[in-house]
Amino acid sequence: MLSINADRLKKSVLELSKIGYNETDHGMYRWGFTDADMEARRWMMEQAKAEGFKTFMDGAGNVFFGIGDYSKKPAVLTGSHLDTVPAGGIFDGALGVLAGFEVLRSIKENDVKLAHPVWVVGTAEEEGRFGGMMGSQAIAGVLNPDWLMSAHDADNVYLKDAMAAHGMDVMDALDAAWPPERLKAFYELHIEQGPVLFQKEITIGAVEGISGVFKWIVHLKGKADHAGTAPMNMRSDAFMGLADFAHEIERIIAEDGTDKTRITVGKVDLKPGSPHTVPGEAVFTIVGRDMSNDVMKELADSCNKALSAIARKHRLKFEYEQVSWLNPQACSEKLTKQIEDKAKARNYSCLKMPSGAGHDAQFFTEITESGLIFIPSVNGVSHAPDEWSHWHDVEAGCNILFDCIINSAQ
Ligand SMILES: [Zn+2]
Repeated sequence: MLSINADRLKKSVLELSKIGYNETDHGMYRWGFTDADMEARRWMMEQAKAEGFKTFMDGAGNVFFGIGDYSKKPAVLTGSHLDTVPAGGIFDGALGVLAGFEVLRSIKENDVKLAHPVWVVGTAEEEGRFGGMMGSQAIAGVLNPDWLMSAHDADNVYLKDAMAAHGMDVMDALDAAWPPERLKAFYELHIEQGPVLFQKEITIGAVEGISGVFKWIVHLKGKADHAGTAPMNMRSDAFMGLADFAHEIERIIAEDGTDKTRITVGKVDLKPGSPHTVPGEAVFTIVGRDMSNDVMKELADSCNKALSAIARKHRLKFEYEQVSWLNPQACSEKLTKQIEDKAKARNYSCLKMPSGAGHDAQFFTEITESGLIFIPSVNGVSHAPDEWSHWHDVEAGCNILFDCIINSAQ
């Protein structure tokens, strides 16, 4: 049985982890379409080119490299994202791209004869700075001009401007769609980003589906008053509204959610933001997740009702903008089974499991058979500088990716 070169893969992971690395907090900073993000894309293309693979970047900023001509025969595609959240870890996304790179190198080195082309993609803007998974959405052909022009981040930087800063035209993302007949299958290797595999001491996760996610930006508007002269009962304190909502989250999940539901308020801005002034406005994000679209709708509805009631109680004006809504997606049963079989063949322990986090693979399910492979995250930590996965698990995951790709490309 052929295996990948674990040392070579490790070397690539460590090299990419230098791009966007922050000395102070030891986190990765490759937020979508920042300089570091674009530098990582150029680095990836240079690496692939140096190995003799064909490379290109599409209009959405996705980086591709591979072997074979997919205009003649459908390709087996693998990959993940190259961008990171601010202060992220070195494996989230990068692992899937570099494991694909390692698989290509192993195919070439061992002169594996395949009937289908094998390509790797490093997708753009997966972490949702602009409220979606832009790169894989572009490939799946689900973007539209209106969204592209209006997409902006939580600091009101527009996607079109962030791309223009790198000489890119946001509308070119519409040219990045792949016709389904060009694809045979898609695989993604990713760290679990949760504690399940690590706690159960299981090496491989065969993912059966990915939870959906919605993101809101909420405005609660009251009145900024002098913190000394405004009596407590005459205030319209926006923070009090936010605090009340925070306490409602548990009830909303108990009434309308499931054990897979997650609701998070992750970013809060109080205005004017002075210690001696009653907050006149609270701007905050709500991110909700579940494996069922119907449950997500009920959760969203309950958040809306709770915030409306809270706003009345505190004499606030309530508005929200739904920045994104991604439906839950099922992975291919056939490929999930294949991942389990390949793990068994290598004597790796394996667990069939759902994914609580969104991944590029969810958009590929719309255009081709998709499989998602997890490896354990130490202590379940991710989106943080202390995110880690053991090298022996990285090797195991890449071997399963290798086996699955060869199987599908034969
Ligand atoms: Zn990721």
